[in-house]
Formats: sequence, C-alpha cells, structure tokens
Amino acid sequence: MFDYRAAADLLQGRVILVTGAGDGIGRACAISCAAHGASVVLLGRTLSKLEAVYDEIEAAGYPQPAICPLNLETAAEKDYDDLADQLFDTFGKLDGLVHNAALLGPRTMLDNVKNEDWQQLMQVNVNAPFALTKAMMPLLRAAPDASVVFLSSSVGRKGRAYWGPYAVSKFALEGLMQVLADEQDGTSEIRVNSVNPGATRTAMRKAAYPAEEPEKNPEPSEIMPVFLYLLGADSKGVNGQALNARD
Ligand code: NDP
Repeated sequence: MFDYRAAADLLQGRVILVTGAGDGIGRACAISCAAHGASVVLLGRTLSKLEAVYDEIEAAGYPQPAICPLNLETAAEKDYDDLADQLFDTFGKLDGLVHNAALLGPRTMLDNVKNEDWQQLMQVNVNAPFALTKAMMPLLRAAPDASVVFLSSSVGRKGRAYWGPYAVSKFALEGLMQVLADEQDGTSEIRVNSVNPGATRTAMRKAAYPAEEPEKNPEPSEIMPVFLYLLGADSKGVNGQALNARD
C-alpha cells in the first residue's frame, strides 16, 4: 500500500469535490476526506446514494457535506458554471477536485465497439472531467494550494487488448493531467496528478471480473493513503506525477 499516514486533521478547512461519490472508491474517498476534516462536495448521478453518504458523514460528526446531483453524461457547460457559482457562494474556494466517476463500457475487440458506446464513455470519462476542471479553475486558484486528482488505471498506462474505450479514456486522462500540470507549473499553486487505484473491491471490478473472488482485492477504504497524501499539504510541490495506490 502507498506508504503514508495522514494526520487526523490533515484536511481541516479544506473543501474537496469528489465525483462518483455515491459508491465504490469515490464514496470511500469522500468519507475519508470528511473524517480528516474536509467539507466534501458529493457529486454523482444517483441521489439516494449521495444522500446515504451524506447521512453517514453527518452521523459521524464530520464537517457538513454538500450534495450535487449531476449526470456527467448529460451535463452541459451551464451546469458546471452554475455549480462553480454555487461553490463560490458557499465556500469561496475549492482545495481538492477528485475525478473519480467513470464508466467501464464494452470490453471487446475495438472492431466490435459501437460508436455510440464509445461516445457515451468518452463523454463521462474524459469530456466531463475536462469541462468540470475548466469550470472549477477560478475556485482552485482561490485556494492556497489546490490539488486535482484523476483516477487512472493500469490499462491507461499500458494498453491491453479488449479494454476498449475505457483504456483509451484513461490514457486521455493521463494526457489531460500532464498538460494541466505543466500549465500550472510555476504559474499557480495548483498541483495535478493521477492515481491508479489497482484492483479494488467495487461494483466496477465485479463487472470487469465476474468470476473473481471479491475478497481477493482490498476494500476502497484500504487504498485511501495516496488520496489523502495528494489532497493534503504534505504533497505540496508534487505535480504531474502518475502514482499508484498500491506498490
Ligand atoms: P464504481 O462503478 O463502483 O463507481 C463509479 C461511480 O461513478 C459510481 O458512484 C457511479 O454512480 C459514478 N458514475 C458513473 N457514471 C456517472 C455519471 N454519468 N455521472 C455521475 N456519476 C457517475 O467504480 P469504482 O469505484 O470501481 O471506480 C472508481 C474509479 O477508479 C474509476 O475512475 C475507475 O475507472 C477507477 N479504477 C477502479 C478500479 C477497480 O478495481 N475498482 C481499478 C482501476 C481504476 P452510480 O453509483 O450512480 O452508478
């Protein structure tokens, strides 16, 4: 596991938006950030799941979160701008942006991928993170040392047969991360990095490997150290890096 032990108050006073916060790794990330003192903005498409995470955070006595129901497949530029306006009014800044939500999509030979499936997946996995990041830049600049984290994958670092548009979308995110990181280098205090979580016990992993014993892989809560490291002040100056949640 990534070797980092977060101080209990690591994220005190920070505002962190997590996409796909209702389930899997995003849910664990939101709860873990809140447990370390952050006010989290829970963005996702299924309101009931976001509400359950909200209730869990509130019941634990962590800072009050905010809920943002948004379907990244259909969200338009205005939705992102409206969200930025709301966050400005409520918090005045954004210290962390975790691009976690993603679709797995069809896993088959590229010949067999339907164009509409390709486009749907690119919309959620690539176009939405671009549009959301763009809208959030003024808020990120308003924070003293903001951190943007893109969720990658092993197949986003080395292509593999039958991983289709999912693999290509993760390569695109690595590219987005690198270009954005280079632009911020020396021009702002924003750092931008990617994380490959590795095999993790979630619905997406189950869909990708239906025959696998789920217990073989760690729970999302077990892979949080790398996320806490990147979102807290200990990673100041770390920029443009492709990290792994596990060794
Ligand atoms: P899950 O499928 O378990 O969770 C994905 C989350 O994204 C869900 O909350 C889902 O919402 C949300 N989401 C999906 N589509 C949209 C949309 N259109 N709009 C808004 N939210 C949406 O995935 P994981 O937790 O496993 O994966 C999290 C990240 O980690 C992904 O980027 C994935 O590619 C990456 N990853 C995961 C690995 C693993 O082994 N689990 C390995 C490598 C990378 P809803 O709950 O409503 O469905």
